[in-house]
Amino acid sequence: MAEDDHSFKYDESDEKGPGHWGDLKPAWQTCKTGKFQSPIDLKTNNGVAVAEADSRVSLEGLKRSYKEAPAVMMNRGHDIVVQWEGDAGGIVVNGTHYKLVQCHWHSPSEHTINGQRLKMELHMVHNSSEGQLAVVAVLYEFGHPDKFLSKVFNLIELLLYMNKNENEKGIELGNVNPWTVQLGSRKYFRYMGSLTVPPCTEGVVWTIVDKIRTVSREQSRALALSVHHGFENNSRPTQQIDGRSVQLYRPQCMMMSCCVSGGGGGNGVGSGKSDKGGGDCGGGGEGRAVGLRGVVVATAVDDKEEDGGSDGGGNGDLEMEKQ
Ligand SMILES: [Zn+2]
Repeated sequence: MAEDDHSFKYDESDEKGPGHWGDLKPAWQTCKTGKFQSPIDLKTNNGVAVAEADSRVSLEGLKRSYKEAPAVMMNRGHDIVVQWEGDAGGIVVNGTHYKLVQCHWHSPSEHTINGQRLKMELHMVHNSSEGQLAVVAVLYEFGHPDKFLSKVFNLIELLLYMNKNENEKGIELGNVNPWTVQLGSRKYFRYMGSLTVPPCTEGVVWTIVDKIRTVSREQSRALALSVHHGFENNSRPTQQIDGRSVQLYRPQCMMMSCCVSGGGGGNGVGSGKSDKGGGDCGGGGEGRAVGLRGVVVATAVDDKEEDGGSDGGGNGDLEMEKQ
């Protein structure tokens, strides 16, 4: 999303560092003057959100409808990106359909949790027919390898040895299934922000999954080695929230099937069926939930008209990991 890989830096002491992005080009002014910038710090402790939750806006479950499509992987210098060339489906936010365009990684994470940076953050970038952007972010700590990165792992190193021409074409990955990116929870934080690289365009709908997943050190290192020198750390510092509301969507567990996998404060009692993919309520599956139990910034009920109230069953499959 950056115009030129080396026209900005992440090193705060560099004259092209994050504090100066807004001065580097007129078109990048928003990086300095914007009031809705990303990333931000997400607070989950003490049951108090940094920003007041806006109860007038009711959130609904993230509706994903991905499908596999041809993709290429490229080194943009400041990050590694997997870009879909065919129709890879997308998400629906507030009635607007956003098409999946690409995903890329930041190390360490850009969004922080209670001031803490995690090891890595994945951004799935979507855009609407009106050109609006919606990004779904997943945070990672070190642990088991990440499934999606594992699929492209051997090719990441190849990027290192490609010349500029080859790199512009990228490496053909064949069909890539976006469902391979595992969220592991239906809970998420939502706020309005910006691109985290120049030109820092605002109006981006952010969805940060409330579950920390894992990436292996080896995978993380491969990403850092592949980007251009100086971009091993490619995370923008957190920005002022400035009175924005940050909401936490948490599905209401009306039906047992929603909670049996152990999430959302449920004990996982009852079901004889062990379904690893059913960690929809948050606590199940791999990884750990970010939010503390019982801490709700804003509880939202799915819009029954649109969702048919099937949060606990039927449509829940949308969110189920397809592996
Ligand atoms: Zn990003």
